[in-house]
Amino acid sequence: MKIWNGISNFIFGNACLGCLRSGLSLDPWLCPDCREELRRLSHFPRRPNPDTLCLYAMTPLTKNLVHGLKYGNMPGLAGYMVNLALQDLETYGTLQAWGKGLGFVPVPLHPARMRERGYNQAEKLAMAISRRMKGEVLPVLKRKSFRMSQTTLSRENRASNVAGAFEFKKSWPEHKIPIIVDDVYTTGATTGACLYAFEKMNLGGFAKVCTLLYEESATARMDFAADNAMEWHV
Ligand SMILES: [Zn+2]
Repeated sequence: MKIWNGISNFIFGNACLGCLRSGLSLDPWLCPDCREELRRLSHFPRRPNPDTLCLYAMTPLTKNLVHGLKYGNMPGLAGYMVNLALQDLETYGTLQAWGKGLGFVPVPLHPARMRERGYNQAEKLAMAISRRMKGEVLPVLKRKSFRMSQTTLSRENRASNVAGAFEFKKSWPEHKIPIIVDDVYTTGATTGACLYAFEKMNLGGFAKVCTLLYEESATARMDFAADNAMEWHV
């Protein structure tokens, strides 16, 4: 393996996706230091609400990895990050406690993005989690129509933009517990819209959300900064 890494570094000039240093032994994504850092982070998942589990916090390292997963044509990063995260017994236990017969529902990618990227990163994540939890991947949702890029909208506009954005393309199997899977949880608007589709079918009662990363939203960061500024002046 070491020899292979050495050769691949030589041929492709591979650098660690975390620290971007090259010439190190990679696994094949990270150097030993960054791998250790990712393992450390895997012990601190985020729970923005009781029904949502985010496997990692957003840090420069996890951000680089999810960037590779989404834009770097590296679908293998899904299994790599999920498997490490689910080695944490508490994280594994959280998913297990959600019930037997988990059905993992990837947030659907817009068809144009799918053509461009070749795969849906949420589906790769759903497959990886499902394998570990002995569940099933159930891609039952589809996007209704093309909508504006989420990143250019405010939090409120994002919420109203995506509400009602998804609908069922096939029926939900009885007795399965829906787990909506996405790459990043920011405001919860996207996964919330998927939950809304389940609620409309009276299937929302047990539905949960699992994402790879939790990104504190810009609004939350600003609120926090404002609160802190207030404190300093009191
Ligand atoms: Zn590194």
